[in-house]
Amino acid sequence: MASRICLLLLVVFLAGAFAGDVIEVNKSQREFDYFALSLQWPGTYCRGTRHCCSKNACCRGSDAPTQFTIHGLWPDYNDGSWPSCCYRSDFNEKEISTLMDGLEKYWPSLSCGSPSSCNGGKGSFWGHEWEKHGTCSSPVFHDEYNYFLTTLNIYLKHNVTDVLYQAGYVASNSEKYPLGGIVTAIQNAFHITPEVVCKKDAIDEIRICFYKDFKPRDCVGSKELMSRKSCPQYVSLPEYTPLDGEAMVLKMPTEREAL
Ligand code: 5GP
Ligand code: 5GP
Repeated sequence: MASRICLLLLVVFLAGAFAGDVIEVNKSQREFDYFALSLQWPGTYCRGTRHCCSKNACCRGSDAPTQFTIHGLWPDYNDGSWPSCCYRSDFNEKEISTLMDGLEKYWPSLSCGSPSSCNGGKGSFWGHEWEKHGTCSSPVFHDEYNYFLTTLNIYLKHNVTDVLYQAGYVASNSEKYPLGGIVTAIQNAFHITPEVVCKKDAIDEIRICFYKDFKPRDCVGSKELMSRKSCPQYVSLPEYTPLDGEAMVLKMPTEREAL
């Protein structure tokens, strides 16, 4: 009898283990309230580049991104807090292999570092975003593919770089722009108030927020913006000039080129 029970338990365990690589680790976090699409400004992020590697889009020389790129799609709570690492789902890049062109272009890593995954290992920027934030986007998303695909789609539907460009706010190492003007341009385009995050006076990130059905809504952090906590009244959108030699570090000659 005991051996039958053991066998049954083993079968149940194996069925669970092979049903998918999803293991619930934190059921205590309640369902999120809304999404924040966090966009990063490469001109600001890449200024901190000290060395290069192939995965870092700051190192693409003249092909380095010049528009806002995606940092992540984050499930948030209305009280300003957010859930993270909601269940164990080890990132599997194969699941999003058909999205690679879009991800490399619009959601590149701007760093050579390997961020930590929820279970303490090290992985890719995409893996970090999926495990930390994507796993908390249930019941809207249950898998990597839909999380990344939808994020790319809403990013392409809300072109913040173009909205700012049309209003005259373009990358510059000499101009300062009124924060209020930048916010107004986004309000006029999408009818919501974004959250703006600065590093000193340079815009680091702009976040636009969405209900669970992806209709735009104000971000909770936009209230902070009104009290001018994060950014000064005049802000910059720095241009990024790749460091000397970056392209060389990246461009390892192939065997044939080396001959
Ligand atoms: P930082 O301290 O650099 O603003 O944020 C560090 C990390 O905390 C972010 O990359 C992100 O993972 C998380 N984080 C910061 N602000 C928010 C937020 O408003 N919502 C969510 N979901 N995560 C955030
Ligand atoms: P978050 O701030 O989203 O919690 O964490 C982002 C993690 O990914 C950090 O460990 C950071 O070093 C790494 N990382 C890799 N590429 C990027 C990038 O392009 N932007 C940001 N913000 N973090 C990146």
